[in-house]
Amino acid sequence: MIEKTKARIRVLDPHIANKIAAGEVIERPASVVKELVENALDAGAEHIEVFVEEGGSRLLRVVDDGIGMNADDLQLAFVPHATSKLADVEDLECIASLGFRGEALASIGSVAHARIVSRLRGEETGHALENHGGDVRGPHRAGAAPGTEVTVRNLFFNTPARRKFLRTPRTEFGHIEDAIARFALCFPEVGFRLLHDGREILHAPHGQSRTERLQAVLGKELGHSLLPVGANSPGGTLEGYLAPPSISRAHARDLHFFVNGRHIRDKILHRVVRQAYRDCLHHGRYPVVFLFFEIDPAQIDVNVHPTKSEIRWRDSSFLHRVVGPELTRTLRAADLAVGGEPGDHNERVREAVSDYFASSPGPSSQAVWPVQSWPAPAAGRPQVTAGDRIAEAAPGGTTPFSVFQVHDSYLVCEVEDGIAIVDQHALHERVQYDRILSKLTEGGVETQRLLVPEEVELTGTERGLIEEHTDLLKRCGLEWSPFGNSTVVLETMPAVIPRSHGGDLLRDLLELAAVRGEEADARTLFHRVADTMACKAAVRFGDRLSREEAAALLQESGALDRAFVCPHGRPTVLRLPFAQLEKHFGRR
Ligand code: ADP
Ligand code: MG
Repeated sequence: MIEKTKARIRVLDPHIANKIAAGEVIERPASVVKELVENALDAGAEHIEVFVEEGGSRLLRVVDDGIGMNADDLQLAFVPHATSKLADVEDLECIASLGFRGEALASIGSVAHARIVSRLRGEETGHALENHGGDVRGPHRAGAAPGTEVTVRNLFFNTPARRKFLRTPRTEFGHIEDAIARFALCFPEVGFRLLHDGREILHAPHGQSRTERLQAVLGKELGHSLLPVGANSPGGTLEGYLAPPSISRAHARDLHFFVNGRHIRDKILHRVVRQAYRDCLHHGRYPVVFLFFEIDPAQIDVNVHPTKSEIRWRDSSFLHRVVGPELTRTLRAADLAVGGEPGDHNERVREAVSDYFASSPGPSSQAVWPVQSWPAPAAGRPQVTAGDRIAEAAPGGTTPFSVFQVHDSYLVCEVEDGIAIVDQHALHERVQYDRILSKLTEGGVETQRLLVPEEVELTGTERGLIEEHTDLLKRCGLEWSPFGNSTVVLETMPAVIPRSHGGDLLRDLLELAAVRGEEADARTLFHRVADTMACKAAVRFGDRLSREEAAALLQESGALDRAFVCPHGRPTVLRLPFAQLEKHFGRR
């Protein structure tokens, strides 16, 4: 038996208590930067400069031109739970500042060599104060510009365990850079400069608009493609920017939520955003979004996490009832075809398609899709081109709209303002996806009975799964019966899928059912099933389309809301407007 002597309970020495608190607040150099920049912003700074050496473990300095502190303020700056931002307990109910815990400077001072030099706005001189791992000296007079400069050297010099956990300077600096970029996005009017080992890494000038700032920080390509979204309710407003589905990530780190100037993680918002993108992103892909909320501080609780990176919503109905639907609407309305102006292109193509159908007997009749002259087929391609086949039936150029297939892969269409080129697989996949999804939700897809049932070999696990998911499979158009130990025969298939794909489809669906897990609801599963089936049901590159097929495809897609992105987020249509053609050919 191990002898254990009972230690007496005692109140911790403040030095130790601060170090423990620092463990929660200060995890790495980027945490110091975050706290110092928050203080600068709370002080009303217009310019904030951040100097970093060796990833921040050697030196971090944040210089601001905010309100500053006088000697009396400085006296308290390193004292734990000393803050100018909360006066009484009611204030905790509606926090409008970024800081409020009065913990950051005390924590930083206890694990580094920190020095604050500050001059209160309107005063003649400044003061300085040092804190070496809890040993405070000052304040004493010191020359200073108005504002505050905080320098932190040798972070974690007295907590070797922490220091060991630091990664390479490059990685630590990367965290700092991300933190500054987030502040810069959130406060476009404030100027930010970030330097690493003397090199300027980021410079976002003072007084920018949000869009200027997005472009300055994110780069032109992402910055330019973001779709603005807004929402309003008595309790709050949203100003948001959504990347189109053609830009996506394999991780969720680019879902950025800012609430009252605070970058937060939030499960509810995460879900609302994923939901809005669900129809246009492949599963396993995450969107890129920047949502800036201004919420009545009384409506949220920011005091739920030591680093203030989470909040609690007193009422999240604004998110579900207003924000979610607004995101969905924005994604739908956006013109996601390459080269279009937001909003108008979908409209115009759809109009062109419906005009055409209004003035013609419909796609199943003979006289459709006239084609003007078309160049000879490329060498090595089949004898009869799509152009020939379509031209056969041309009634003489009276219809306002024409289409032909090239290289058995693309449909080239005449649209009101120029030319549209359609990726036939991607567009058909989109059409099939919507159709299959609605059938699945309504009860089940249409089936074809197989005259010669198809035998499918399964693994032991798959054999187990198929028993378990008979109902689901039936809904998806697959009916089966046992045939020996590891083999089943498929008796029906979904009508839209070529029968050679039966075994594949069965295995894919079993895989989906297996990884579904408890948390995924039937709707989520149906989206995945529709995705899997649509890919198999869609015409491929190299499939020859008849005139009627091409017409039907364009007609059906024209009627759809989101025909211009495939379910995986790739565009399906490239538009070349006359303006662009004329520019290219030097006509204007
Ligand atoms: P908190 O921000 O939670 O109040 P801190 O420990 O970060 O706690 O800061 C303590 C106090 O020091 C602040 O409340 C503020 O009054 C003052 N202070 C800190 N940094 C600055 C700054 N850059 N400019 C002016 N005052 C500051
Ligand atoms: Mg603070």
